[in-house]
Amino acid sequence: MDGIVEEQWSVFLRHWDVSRDQEVALAEMVTAEPDRHDWRVVDAAFDRLVCSECGDRLSRGPVACSACDLAHGFRYAAIETDRPGVRLGNEHAIRVNVSVVRRPQVTSDNEVLVRRLLLPVLLVGHLPSIEEAQRMSALVKRSPQAQKHILIEQAIEEIARHQRRAKRRSSK
Ligand SMILES: [Zn+2]
Repeated sequence: MDGIVEEQWSVFLRHWDVSRDQEVALAEMVTAEPDRHDWRVVDAAFDRLVCSECGDRLSRGPVACSACDLAHGFRYAAIETDRPGVRLGNEHAIRVNVSVVRRPQVTSDNEVLVRRLLLPVLLVGHLPSIEEAQRMSALVKRSPQAQKHILIEQAIEEIARHQRRAKRRSSK
């Protein structure tokens, strides 16, 4: 999961020719101006800062930490750029899912489960429609605990199949 943001951070370090011992200083600069950077870089920067209130990685602390809440809100000022060939809004979906999975304590278990299972599908460029997302959250609510995981996986696989078919049709 962290690899999604770490890769971009490494590229960023190389681009600015910053050595690893200057990382924290760079992270402070990035998080001071989140609207000037890609969200993956901003999220990775937060990981490098320690929260002065709770001592966790900044923005990833417990529900009650106001400093983390504040930082968590700032991260959404960052830039999202859809990768070529993916559905519009795919990058936004990835960043929301990554953000929920990396700070699961502020979200319901059901939602964390759905978002975690959806990520691989989003990373290959799919994007569930609003109806599909609603069906999925209804499904996770009514499924018995023991079968939740498998039922959600099946629903997601179905969405991916559907979108692959639609893509093939549109490219003919
Ligand atoms: Zn905190």
